[in-house]
Amino acid sequence: MNISFPEALEKCFGAGVSVSERRPVSGGDINRAYALTLSNGMRLFMKANRKENRDFFRAEAEGLEAMRRTGTICVPEVLAAGWDADGSFLLMGFIEEGRRSKASSEELGRRLAAMHKADTSGFVKGGKFGFLRDNYIGAGVQINTPAETWAEFFTQKRLVPQFERAAGYWDKAFRKKIEALVAGADRILTEPEHPSLLHGDLWAGNYMIDRSGTPWLIDPAAYVGHAEADLAMTELFGGFDRAFYDAYKEAAGIDAGYRGRRDFYNLYHLLNHLNLFGGSYLYAVKEIVDRYV
Ligand code: ADP
Repeated sequence: MNISFPEALEKCFGAGVSVSERRPVSGGDINRAYALTLSNGMRLFMKANRKENRDFFRAEAEGLEAMRRTGTICVPEVLAAGWDADGSFLLMGFIEEGRRSKASSEELGRRLAAMHKADTSGFVKGGKFGFLRDNYIGAGVQINTPAETWAEFFTQKRLVPQFERAAGYWDKAFRKKIEALVAGADRILTEPEHPSLLHGDLWAGNYMIDRSGTPWLIDPAAYVGHAEADLAMTELFGGFDRAFYDAYKEAAGIDAGYRGRRDFYNLYHLLNHLNLFGGSYLYAVKEIVDRYV
């Protein structure tokens, strides 16, 4: 059921509470973002977009909720996701940003490891890997139809749809390589000891450290998969330090074969970037395909 912004404020804070200040926040690449101060003094974080994009926020809210339910890592509390004549909005608790430190990196590594160890049975139905709904990776659709094996899920629900979306970039010879890569993917991928709830879009812009040094995850593209896929994405654009990896490894272990699979996982994100932002990602995509085929 939909809720309008005024209804959401009234439901959460009672009648008579209004927005006394709305300050734009920069840093996101898709939505408008605001720090709101309410007439009762509370601070909230709001993302806004066109009404047509309301499903993005519902999907984000469900991803945040899934991570919160693991009880392992801080995520902002979602207060409401809805739309009205002004557009769609996602309203959540405000994180007061603090300084990143070695201790906060270690804590992020430990808490991510704990999230990856959490029981996933409530987050996917009818298969081991997937999610309760499709969601979005950046502005791209992310299919989460469940599958029994990780190799099938990652190949059919992650790589194949992106390769198909990028069809205009491939000539006949390269299409053959893609077919061979897809056919042989189960020789590259391994099944995890247990499935993990993943953040799904874990680049350095999607975690925050608050003033007490506590790490928070934001802006997920959550699904149940192989923990290594989250780890791989942390390495794609950088921004995670040694202390993070050491703490993660100590808490959850990192398989010796991970390094050899890392770029194969990141092929998904590079293909998504190719589809969203264009040809500057083509070289990186082709290089990885050539390496793994
Ligand atoms: P987008 O969906 O457009 O990528 P993000 O979720 O990444 O937007 O948010 C944009 C920026 O807003 C982040 O880089 C971060 O600095 C800030 N931010 C995100 N969530 C919160 C929050 N709950 N509290 C305070 N600031 C936030």
